[in-house]
Amino acid sequence: MIISAADFKNILLNISDAIEKNVNYLTELDAEIGDGDHGANMEKGFKKIKQQLLASETQDGGEMLIIAGKVLLNEIGGAMGPLYGGGLVKAGVALKGKSSFNKNDILNLFASMLESIKSLGGAKIGDKTMVDTLEPFVTEYGKAIVELELPEAFEKALISAKKGMLSTKDIISRIGRSSRLLERSKGHLDVGATSSYIILESFYKSITLLLN
Ligand code: ADP
Ligand code: MG
Repeated sequence: MIISAADFKNILLNISDAIEKNVNYLTELDAEIGDGDHGANMEKGFKKIKQQLLASETQDGGEMLIIAGKVLLNEIGGAMGPLYGGGLVKAGVALKGKSSFNKNDILNLFASMLESIKSLGGAKIGDKTMVDTLEPFVTEYGKAIVELELPEAFEKALISAKKGMLSTKDIISRIGRSSRLLERSKGHLDVGATSSYIILESFYKSITLLLN
């Protein structure tokens, strides 16, 4: 499977819609052990990403990711601006000049994003952050594409991402705002791990739509 620039743009627009649909859920989760701003931050950012992508004529997928990353870097508060924003810019630089994407490009995208998030935020698996969703996804996807095509590999990796997201419920936060709660952070899903899963799930749904 090869994803065209036009399809890639639609994938990003669909992610914006998925975030918008889940704003209240993200707000509730962040209110439990954070400050409740994650839903609003993500909504504001992804609405603006949608506007800018719709206004852009670019056929360069890397450029699209850079546009999205810059919006989050420049306009969004909380941990999300630098983490997601920096991650998207890094992924965009890695894919610059590409107007179609194969399964290796998609690995490059998510691996670059994860690397940026980990180097900036210093989180490891088990710290109760978005890394708990993204790292299992990247590891599983990287293994799966050796034998499987893009959609099947993505589906398999999404299962690992979901397990990772769910694993954040029963652990103590070791990084970010919720880490101040120590033991009390247990019993609640991490909101960043959840928004990362929503993004991956939306990406997968868009891929399956392209197949039909
Ligand atoms: P803030 O905590 O500043 O209010 P948000 O509510 O937008 O920011 O995002 C909180 C999420 O950010 C957390 O649930 C966690 O997944 C993620 N996060 C926070 N700090 C880090 C970090 N250092 N590395 C990776 N992810 C982090
Ligand atoms: Mg918050």
